[in-house]
Amino acid sequence: MKVHDKLYINGEWVASTGSDHEDVIDSATEEVIGRAPLGTAADVDKAVAAARAAFDSWAATPVDVRAKYLRDIGTGLAIRFEEIADTISAEVGSPKSFAQMVQAGLALGEWENFAALIETYEWEETVGSSLVISEPIGVVGAITPWNYPLYLIICKVAPALAAGCTIVLKPSEITPLNAYILAEVIHEAGLPAGVFNLVPGNGPVVGAAISAHPDVDMVSFTGSGRSGAEVMKAGAATVKRVGLELGGKSANVILDDADPAAVAMGALFAAFLNSGQTCSALSRILIPESRKDEFLDAILGEAALMKLVDPKADEPDIFHALGPMSSKAHQDRVNAYIQKGIDEGATLALGGPGQPEGFEKGFYVNPTVFVDVTPDMAIAQEEIFGPVLSILTYTDEENALEIANGTIYGLHGAVQSGSDERAIAFARRMRTGSVDVNSGGFNPVAPFGGYKQSGNTRERGRWGLEEFLETKSLQLPG
Ligand code: NAD
Repeated sequence: MKVHDKLYINGEWVASTGSDHEDVIDSATEEVIGRAPLGTAADVDKAVAAARAAFDSWAATPVDVRAKYLRDIGTGLAIRFEEIADTISAEVGSPKSFAQMVQAGLALGEWENFAALIETYEWEETVGSSLVISEPIGVVGAITPWNYPLYLIICKVAPALAAGCTIVLKPSEITPLNAYILAEVIHEAGLPAGVFNLVPGNGPVVGAAISAHPDVDMVSFTGSGRSGAEVMKAGAATVKRVGLELGGKSANVILDDADPAAVAMGALFAAFLNSGQTCSALSRILIPESRKDEFLDAILGEAALMKLVDPKADEPDIFHALGPMSSKAHQDRVNAYIQKGIDEGATLALGGPGQPEGFEKGFYVNPTVFVDVTPDMAIAQEEIFGPVLSILTYTDEENALEIANGTIYGLHGAVQSGSDERAIAFARRMRTGSVDVNSGGFNPVAPFGGYKQSGNTRERGRWGLEEFLETKSLQLPG
């Protein structure tokens, strides 16, 4: 049991001005495994004041010194790798091997990228008679979700620190424990007081206070569209920059010259990654009407191999092992969508609603596949964020494109074809921030973010750094 009763403000562990706390629940056992305070608006005021006071000095700290702090923090995180993986496995429900490889491994890798990046970044350039300078934007409020909790924190905290910004972090109230590990490592590394501050708490209290605060220059938010819109509204009065990374309903378009056996396993993995609790999950598969039976056979054959596991079991097969949902409320929400799919008239090919057999405890959901889904159904339009796959058919390539682009979202996508050229041509026409072409692999330094209601910014790599920069031009004397 990990009990935290302090916030991290101005380089010290301090009590909240309030007295509420939130229990952290193990998603598989439903037991309380930890506790964190629920901060208040007054706590946010203190944290923002500390970040504001620390800003000028941190912004003026030479790049190589900032890079050294980043590397020291990276080393501190690496030392606590196993603890990070185990903590997130319990908080989120990710199977142990997935938590190690992705939840902890990807997070640490992302942290490492930014020290090297700022050492080679062009901070100044000459344009005609002007000197154009990149400067840190100021005090950053970072608000993050629970699904890849540390990775998504690091996608903000590492580039913001690297850019020379100071930070107030509010992690998800469902998964605060991993954020405490980061704060402890930052404290150990001796980062100057006030540069990084941690105020855990609820969105409508702590998140709203950060978003509306006149001394916060930018809010970097990852989460649902509903909360993102609230952040944007709250930030509007002070015209702050609001970076939003929101949800998706991404399409995996299988063109008619693709090989069913070659695409099935990757398609299932991409749909059910982290039990479907992935913003970029390819939760819609589009197959050609002309080869419907062949593709369905391959995909459903692969889907039948998916198995629910105890996250703590040493299950090495990360391609087929699924843990529970992160919370009871989310389990209920996903089950309600499965029921909705049935009520809307889609054909249930695998799974279904209700507590899975053999798993009396834990927020498990049956891996579920719907076929005969039509584009107007809720299960084809709305983000479910669970192990629920919708398979749709299309008549020709234009129809496939229309269905793929036919949601309010535009975060991610994929296209499979016997020809790379054909797949790339199709990918260019998809209205989304990223597309995996013929199983092209994950690239941690490529920009990631959404078109349309999936967001308005890009994280990772150079683009992730530039999110936290202002641009100034000096018109030089002739
Ligand atoms: P959520 O919107 O419920 O919560 C996200 C964060 O916002 C939490 O810290 C929460 O406390 C806070 N919040 C809630 N209401 C707020 C308010 N009024 N003001 C300020 N902050 C508020 O989302 P979630 O359930 O934690 O995460 C799942 C969602 O996140 C999904 O929609 C998923 O697609 C999205 N997501 C997007 C990306 C991306 O990079 N685009 C990555 C991961 C998750």
